[in-house]
Amino acid sequence: MAGGSALDEHRSAIADAVSALRALPADLWRAGGAALGELAGEIGGLHQACEAATVAVVREAVERGEPRRDERAMTPVQWLRAHAPTWRAGGAAQVVAVAEAFAVPGNSPVKAAVQGGSLPVRSAAVVVAEADRLRPLLAEGVEEAVVAGMVEVTEQHGPGACRQLRSAILARYGRDGVLQREQDAARRFVALSRPRVDPLGLAEYRLTLDPEGRAVLEAALGPLSAPRPTEGERDLRSGERRRGEALVSLVRRAVAAGDQVGPHAKTTLLVQVPLETLRTGVTGAAETVAGPEAGVHLAPETARRLACDAQVVPVVLDGVAEVADLGRARRLFTGGQTRRLWLRDRHCTYPGCDMPAQWTDAHHLVHWADGGATDLCNAALLCERHHTVVHQRRLTGEVVSDGEGQRVKWDVTVGSYDLRLAQLAAREPA
Ligand SMILES: [Zn+2]
Ligand SMILES: [Zn+2]
Repeated sequence: MAGGSALDEHRSAIADAVSALRALPADLWRAGGAALGELAGEIGGLHQACEAATVAVVREAVERGEPRRDERAMTPVQWLRAHAPTWRAGGAAQVVAVAEAFAVPGNSPVKAAVQGGSLPVRSAAVVVAEADRLRPLLAEGVEEAVVAGMVEVTEQHGPGACRQLRSAILARYGRDGVLQREQDAARRFVALSRPRVDPLGLAEYRLTLDPEGRAVLEAALGPLSAPRPTEGERDLRSGERRRGEALVSLVRRAVAAGDQVGPHAKTTLLVQVPLETLRTGVTGAAETVAGPEAGVHLAPETARRLACDAQVVPVVLDGVAEVADLGRARRLFTGGQTRRLWLRDRHCTYPGCDMPAQWTDAHHLVHWADGGATDLCNAALLCERHHTVVHQRRLTGEVVSDGEGQRVKWDVTVGSYDLRLAQLAAREPA
């Protein structure tokens, strides 16, 4: 039986490798320093090959239904632990997860990397788990490219880096609207705990932010929390202390600003937005480009809302990734316009909301990204919360005149904005 003898050869080679390794320690005194390093590398390669071969064996056993056929009717993990006691210490579940993942065609880059010896099983288990989570969210036909990219990042930077890829992948390869839904959902988890005060009077807070909140906070804290040397003396405060003090100083400033209109809106966040994303609000993502937290991906509708807001400067990219400046002055309301807007609206214009003007954004009723002008007749004050609601539900409003002067009237039917855009488009000659 030729097949049998080939298998016998493999088994005797494995037995030889085991005896060689067991005999090795006694002869190590002969090795020079360089040889010790080489040995460590060679044994590492062997270790990786052992893991890959174990995955292959488990794969075969699972395909044939061996674990279930056992009279104790074991799971694949139990089967592996029963036959190879070394896995009882841990890792059996990962071996089985990787073996089972090989059956999914999109995982072929993982299979190739594990078998080729460049991806340890523990890392491969992270890649296939992440790939499983992302798969239903990906656009058609990109799965293999995405998995190949995850494998490459994991080979170079380890499994931790693979877990960080999610929003970047969804921004580039996700189905339309997926990143937006994720980030809208993430917003529900935004929280600042009440202080837990210890006997010294020190208060501890727990702060949870969504990607947008993180980008805004980090952009503001970045410059404020830099070390400040005093007359040649180094700033010895810890990084965390500088961040904490910067946060308090931010709040103090915001409160002190009171009801003053700043003539120049301060730029706090620089985001890069593909023009397509700004126009459609469906595909792609905005990405923060400055500061230590550069590279945070923001969902498309979030980018459109940010484009309304003077606190943010979008760097608009056209198809060929060149900065296509659509005119910042045209986008932002001037200090004079803002003052008149504060006088006209007095507070957030959303029905029933009385958030004072100094805590509002100036929203473009016809979005700036859709060609809306930066005129008072196209402007409305909205608090942060209602600004989000208006963009998310795509609501439209108009400036109307009645006995008491001008005010903003909102149509709170979901999608009313799209209806209005369609009407505007129908009126315009093509
Ligand atoms: Zn807006
Ligand atoms: Zn409001």
